Amino acid sequence: MNMITNHLPTAELQALDAAHHMHPFTDSNGLAAKGARVITRGKGVWLTDSEGNQIIDGMAGLWCVNIGYGRKELAEVAARQMEELAYYNTFFQTTHVPAIALAAKLAELAPGDLNHVFFAGSGSEANDTNIRLVRRYWQVKGQPDKRIIIARKNGYHGSTMGGGSLGGMAPIHAHGGKIDGIVHIDQPYWWGEGGAMTEAEFGIERAKQLEDKILELGVENVAAFIGEPIQGAGGVIVPPATYWPEIQRICDKYGILLIADEVITGFGRTGNWFGSQTFGIKPHIMTIAKGLSSGYQPIGGSIVCDDVAAVVAEGGEFFHGYTYSGHPVAAAVALENLRIIQEEGIVDHVRNVAHPYLKERWDALTDHPLVGEAKLVGLMGSIALTPDKAKRAKFASEAGTVGLRTRERCFANNLIMRHVGDRMIIAPPLVITPSEIDQLIERAKKSLDESYAGLKADGLLVAKAE
Ligand SMILES: *Cc1c(COP(=O)(O)O)cnc(C)c1O
Repeated sequence: MNMITNHLPTAELQALDAAHHMHPFTDSNGLAAKGARVITRGKGVWLTDSEGNQIIDGMAGLWCVNIGYGRKELAEVAARQMEELAYYNTFFQTTHVPAIALAAKLAELAPGDLNHVFFAGSGSEANDTNIRLVRRYWQVKGQPDKRIIIARKNGYHGSTMGGGSLGGMAPIHAHGGKIDGIVHIDQPYWWGEGGAMTEAEFGIERAKQLEDKILELGVENVAAFIGEPIQGAGGVIVPPATYWPEIQRICDKYGILLIADEVITGFGRTGNWFGSQTFGIKPHIMTIAKGLSSGYQPIGGSIVCDDVAAVVAEGGEFFHGYTYSGHPVAAAVALENLRIIQEEGIVDHVRNVAHPYLKERWDALTDHPLVGEAKLVGLMGSIALTPDKAKRAKFASEAGTVGLRTRERCFANNLIMRHVGDRMIIAPPLVITPSEIDQLIERAKKSLDESYAGLKADGLLVAKAE
């Protein structure tokens, strides 16, 4: 407690951090050389660091702090649940009230007949569950060869062996390999890969790759397709409007299971409870995590439709589970988070207030010389940085150079905005107010201006040869 409330000077913390703490997705030596920024407090959309800077968190942590930081209700629920029943498992014919109540609440909120929840500790674990669930489903139905899962390049489904394999990110596969029976088709990324096609044509073309892949592999070997309604970690890639209806049609036609990875798009992010509602997707399984607890506790899960749950149940015992599946403290906190989202009308706030207000200002960023397209669905947005808008050109420098430089300017201006390659992305807490949006935009513009000036000075405003 002492070390947390009355901590050491920043430089000492950074030295200890570099000496003992292995950071996820980080170049450790690079970070050690400059020292990690130490975040000490959060309130609403604001973070404070150990030097007292006030930072706007344009990423809601890692896309998860939907209700904002510092809500006492969640702390109180956690403390009360820890006193009452800090832990019990749900493995061997036992259950507890928080897991029951949360499962029932999720069944009520989720669309269609998504009525059954298998809990996990994270989104990655939930996707590992999904791999086993869909393979088990076809096994029980007497079709054990149906085990291949089709996913997309540049999709993100987590970082465990299963989640990382479902994801289509080559650098992740390069570190530790990839499990078998997962294949990838191209992503619906029109700005970067659409060539001369219209967005509408390109959406159909990319969705058709699913049909081609099913036919190539043989439908008798394909278990499921998995996709994020909007690719998050891949760069907030919003698919063309034609994409998901065509994917849905193909899944329906061939009778393969459809998994919507809603880890980011769930719980209000897109202006509906789930991204599947925003895009008209009817999944058999939804992956959830992140906004489920607004990040106050680690919890994830799979919301499963009646048919899949019934078939898996028919097969007898399903040999799968996590010690912390449905952890009572995490479940109680998630339930309180959902109560707040619902009772405070936070999904409506996204749809009717925050999105329209931000949309106008976000789209106007395309007036900036560095910004090509701007995309925003609910409170999930991206801008493409380019040296030549008309040609949707890439930079001559290595991909990500310009994005990183721009991110560094944002960081220096106390705005957390991430870069994925040369796209800048945001996903602020859903409770962000119009005046906070003004501040976010002001800092973003200042950072873009500074980045532009620096690129110009360094001769980096050069398009890649085609
Ligand atoms: C973050 C994320 C995951 C992984 O969740 P973890 O809780 O980090 O394991 C899976 N899918 C998507 C779409 C994500 O954004």
